[in-house]
Amino acid sequence: MELRIENLSKTYANGVKALEDVTLTIPKGMYGLLGQNGAGKSTLMRTLATLQDADCGTARLGEIDLLRDKDAVRRILGYLPQDFGVYPRVSALEMLDHLAMLKGVVHRGERKALVEAMLEKVNLTEHRKKALTSFSGGMRQRFGIAQALLGNPKLLIVDEPTAGLDPGERNRFYNLLAEVGENVIVILSTHIVEDVLELCSKMAIIHKGRVLYEGAPDTAVESLAGKIYSRRITKAELGEFEKQYRVISSKLVAGQPLIHIHSEEPPGAGFMPAQPGLEDVFFAKIGGLV
Ligand code: ADP
Repeated sequence: MELRIENLSKTYANGVKALEDVTLTIPKGMYGLLGQNGAGKSTLMRTLATLQDADCGTARLGEIDLLRDKDAVRRILGYLPQDFGVYPRVSALEMLDHLAMLKGVVHRGERKALVEAMLEKVNLTEHRKKALTSFSGGMRQRFGIAQALLGNPKLLIVDEPTAGLDPGERNRFYNLLAEVGENVIVILSTHIVEDVLELCSKMAIIHKGRVLYEGAPDTAVESLAGKIYSRRITKAELGEFEKQYRVISSKLVAGQPLIHIHSEEPPGAGFMPAQPGLEDVFFAKIGGLV
């Protein structure tokens, strides 16, 4: 079953065009929606999660019209929003139990088994009696996945889930998502290139409400083979290089700028060929260089 989004647009009352003619086909597995802050990711996620309406366009998952059949969507949806609030002084166990009840699991024994299985899945069993407020960022996000999985969703939406996690927590979270992603459609929205690289076999790049790329990360990276060059420069030289070359990115390596440029021909001038990466694809696309 695929999720097909066609010609989706949304303009907010203040005139911001958050989505412009977005068309995407999202298969089972992990799908990365990569974009900078303000690109329109949350708008798209919230629209698919039935929390707000689009101006026009369609979104279908099999028989379900996601923009109209809101009750049907809620039955198959798991959602981890960007700002997932936590309730003070309530333990993970109590909260999950409560949420499972709201999902309609009324039989006590069944609910207990479900909640325990979820806690085990996200590796929070030993912390189940602690207040959610005492959880680290990574623990909160894993709890967020547990609650999103309660209803056995076919579509799981996770909005910017790794922002603020330390590397160890991020890794644990990746492993959890990769496991979940085997059986359902998971849309992972993120501004972190590494999230997509590690987890997703399909992706889209979204910028200013528009889709700039849709496909496999590998294919996008291969399309830049032989066209990326790098060079160390001084900070003072950056402006000049930006005028002369198609500079994709500049980042500090050991305190000194290292620039990546896009060039069809070897540029000389001390540039070395560089292995392209997904970050090059991302910055080249949003910079309008490719
Ligand atoms: P992202 O999730 O990629 O950071 P958003 O979907 O949150 O992007 O935002 C896309 C654009 O829409 C941004 O310019 C943002 O400021 C604007 N925006 C988001 N929500 C609203 C709103 N409720 N009213 C007006 N503008 C909004």
